[in-house]
Amino acid sequence: MNFKDYIREIPDFPQPGILFKDITTLLKHGKAYGAAIEALKEAVKNKEIDLIAGPEARGFVVGAPLALALGVGFVPIRKSGKLPGETIEAKYALEYGNDCLAMHKDAIAPGQKVLIADDLLATGGTIATTINLIRQLGGEVAGAAFLIELEDLNGREKLGDVDVFSLIKY
Ligand code: 5GP
Repeated sequence: MNFKDYIREIPDFPQPGILFKDITTLLKHGKAYGAAIEALKEAVKNKEIDLIAGPEARGFVVGAPLALALGVGFVPIRKSGKLPGETIEAKYALEYGNDCLAMHKDAIAPGQKVLIADDLLATGGTIATTINLIRQLGGEVAGAAFLIELEDLNGREKLGDVDVFSLIKY
């Protein structure tokens, strides 16, 4: 299956000059969505994985079905102020200003092997912060899996020695 056929490109979103990769056109196509999750599952099948973690919101629509396909649990990573229990937080820089991601303190037990899932790897800032949170809790990052990677932005370099897999590359 050529997954690129299911990704729509929208110019000037969320700001002028950005060509946004819209995955909603993949998600609404049941066979393509299912095949994409199956392909991610296949890519990580040799890894030891206890949990999948994904940042809101599009990390949920990739990470949760992948977790079910692998038979493991899912941990949501959210923007600050959204999780009800005790959290740890990490700030990261955006193009304009800062943002903050949070995880429940008891989401991961020390030594658990966590695979990160998200829709798209761009500059790597979101996932570098996610890695930081997982490690703060004593988790081991088993790798990171994406539907899409924007290769020109060199996001992989920000992720150090973490094993990265992406299904569709631009
Ligand atoms: P990064 O932190 O790697 O620069 O940006 C990745 C994050 O921004 C991901 O969580 C992703 O959802 C979002 N993102 C950035 N650009 C795009 C895009 O073109 N399409 C989609 N679907 N998400 C994007």
